[in-house]
Amino acid sequence: MPDAKTIRPTLRWRVQSALLQWIDSDHAPEGADAVRHQPDGVEWVRCIPFVILHAGCLGVIWVGASPVAVWTAVALYFLRMFIVTGVYHRYFSHKTYSTSRGVQFLLAFLGGTTVQRGALWWAYHHRHHHQHSDDPEDAHSPHVHGFWWSHIGWITSRRNFPTDYSTIKDLAKYPELVWLNRFDLVVPVLFALSIFGVGAGLETWAPGLGADRWQLLVWGFFISTTFLFHGTACINSMAHLMGRRRFNTSDDSRNSFILAFICLGEGWHNNHHRYMSSTRNGFYWWEIDITYYGLKALSWTGLIWGLKPVPKSVMEEATRADHLASIAAAQRAAQVHPEFAALKRAVPAAAAFAVATATAAQATLPKKAESPAIRKDVAELAHHPEKPVPPTADA
Ligand SMILES: [Zn+2]
Ligand SMILES: [Zn+2]
Repeated sequence: MPDAKTIRPTLRWRVQSALLQWIDSDHAPEGADAVRHQPDGVEWVRCIPFVILHAGCLGVIWVGASPVAVWTAVALYFLRMFIVTGVYHRYFSHKTYSTSRGVQFLLAFLGGTTVQRGALWWAYHHRHHHQHSDDPEDAHSPHVHGFWWSHIGWITSRRNFPTDYSTIKDLAKYPELVWLNRFDLVVPVLFALSIFGVGAGLETWAPGLGADRWQLLVWGFFISTTFLFHGTACINSMAHLMGRRRFNTSDDSRNSFILAFICLGEGWHNNHHRYMSSTRNGFYWWEIDITYYGLKALSWTGLIWGLKPVPKSVMEEATRADHLASIAAAQRAAQVHPEFAALKRAVPAAAAFAVATATAAQATLPKKAESPAIRKDVAELAHHPEKPVPPTADA
């Protein structure tokens, strides 16, 4: 491999290098470390497949629509969102459950159909996000880089293309996962061809459905995958801007019902930043977490096991935080409507009752979340994946 200092990054050289990276995402003649330390900047040639993904949606102008094509797009959106959240996030990034090596490979392969690059690249960036959330080091913080960079810009930046295998040793020790990560175009191409093939089959054997190969490709691959990307990206951008903060974490993560619907439970992002090792992100029954329900059902088959619960101490912290938040809300309401006599009588009574209950429970909020401890957890996961599970409440 040539020395980084001997390489002169001419335009032609950079274009050639970017084209090779379409095939081999680990191709970095100047060294992955050197690339990661470059300033942020869009690498347009490398991003052409990503641009094509978006441009392909315009194909709808020519192919039109049919119920089967639209429902295929919707089904593939939610099925693959489950793979993004239940596999890339809750398994590869956080190891919130266990599985066999064979199923692990199958999960990584299915992960490729999401067209969000390889499982190891995804996990590396996500763990980095937890270690540096909303710090200048965070690749996609809306508070540091602005909304659009956190949503889509960061993924086009040259410095974010390589995978830092040294920080995900628990995953990088499996050569089959490294191969899928390195040649991350293989599965998406196979997936697109499969959809095209199904469309051809419908065209031949069920012409009454009104779908054909090109229509199914546009809806099932291009449109569905583009929506899937932006739905997922909302967690990087919106989940640190929109919603309510239950836990006083060191970042600005938030809980949002809307995002939880779009991303099958990932919208409970403040919960997740408080305790990332749990399989569930919705801590209460009313915090709908479809991904968790799916993983729970999958555990009944024996394919996965060891789903990690939210520790009792974290649940107690959540109860205290919600209780104090209700008191603060009552106090705010009393200040907002001082002119309503009835409200003035009712709200102080509610507030006094809440304060008395809180005092009785010796309630205190944690001063600043244990961010050093949380970040230490991420680092330890990378180097010592077999870390013991903390005391449990329920699964
Ligand atoms: Zn976050
Ligand atoms: Zn996470």
